[in-house]
Amino acid sequence: MLGPNLTAAPRRKTRQIKVGSVPVGGEAPISVQSMTITKTADVDATLQQIYALAGAGADIVRCTCNRADAAEGLARIVPRSPVPIVADVHNDWRMAMAALEAGVQCLRLNPGNIRNPEHIRTIAQDAKDRGVPIRIGVNAGSLDRDLYAKHGGATPEALVESAQIELAYFDEVGFEDVKISVKASYVPLMIEAYRQLADVTDHPLHLGVTEAGPPPAGLVKATAGISTLLLEGIGDTIRYSLTADPVEEARAGRQLLESLGLRERKSVDLIACPSCGRAEIDVIDVARRAMDAFGERQLPLQVAVMGCVVNGPGEAREADLGIAAGNKRGHLFVKGRNVAVVPEAEMVDALVDWAEFIVAHGVDAAIARADTALAEREAERDRRRNLGERGDDANDAATRIELIQKKVGS
Ligand code: SF4
Repeated sequence: MLGPNLTAAPRRKTRQIKVGSVPVGGEAPISVQSMTITKTADVDATLQQIYALAGAGADIVRCTCNRADAAEGLARIVPRSPVPIVADVHNDWRMAMAALEAGVQCLRLNPGNIRNPEHIRTIAQDAKDRGVPIRIGVNAGSLDRDLYAKHGGATPEALVESAQIELAYFDEVGFEDVKISVKASYVPLMIEAYRQLADVTDHPLHLGVTEAGPPPAGLVKATAGISTLLLEGIGDTIRYSLTADPVEEARAGRQLLESLGLRERKSVDLIACPSCGRAEIDVIDVARRAMDAFGERQLPLQVAVMGCVVNGPGEAREADLGIAAGNKRGHLFVKGRNVAVVPEAEMVDALVDWAEFIVAHGVDAAIARADTALAEREAERDRRRNLGERGDDANDAATRIELIQKKVGS
């Protein structure tokens, strides 16, 4: 289920296009895209990556079509792909024609790189005849040089004008199956360009911060740009452009939409305390191992990893399932109710077992199968022990103050 939409502005009204079986725009769910980094001519490697991207949350995948052998690869890839394929075309307009011949479900054209109007109209006419949509993919880094000169740089106005010029060529042949992107690597420029574009067109928009770079900075930049626009109701499909395994792009896109309540949760939402002086386990390590164990499993639950049994179950009481450490043991809780105690070494395995049980049978059945009275008694015992050992002063403030006083000689 989608969560309540507490923050997003109403979604901008756009016309809808279909990228193969995936609707984009209108009332369609915001879709996630990513791009393969294999040679498209290497059909097996590319298909393997497409399957990995689809498994991580990509609804649509783009492959470069830069050479004739790439187009031939696409002809073999398209019928075996689990998701629609977009061909990415830059300088050679004939590659767009070849990709259409290969049967791709969408084209991406960069107006800065294919500049001959006759070529643009020819591609649009063929795409129209075949019922294949096109993304006009404007990019600040490869903006048409005349527009660059006219606007004194890659300004928001220049990016929007580039898209409008391309749209005008498409209009000449009556082609309207279009989505548009105006990407930049500088986030404020990207945001402003999309805002201006949203004011002048009702075509669906593909959001992205181009060349965002490696994580974590790339993730932060892409998230800043994309989520700002999504929360303003702008955007119909998104792509993270990371210098990383593209599976990370697909996963990040999916997680962003889920965390904003814009797509249904498919996998675990892992929450974890930041740890503190009271922690009885290495929270960072357990949380990482739990993330690895859950992987791409289809377990749409919120799961908490908490460092101590003193505050953990209370602070994570809204989680579907959680575990808190105490006295070398893991205290499992379901919706805040203690349900089991396991040895520390089995914490992660137990989380996975209980998560699978909850998804298969529900929260009530999970609580019903537990000896909650025993689990609560044991948790209370470890809680008291932890409090007795450390008191209410989790960060040992009294000891620190003593040391400070010695240092300053008071
Ligand atoms: S008090 Fe416990 S749950 Fe809270 S941050 Fe510290 S270890 Fe984690």
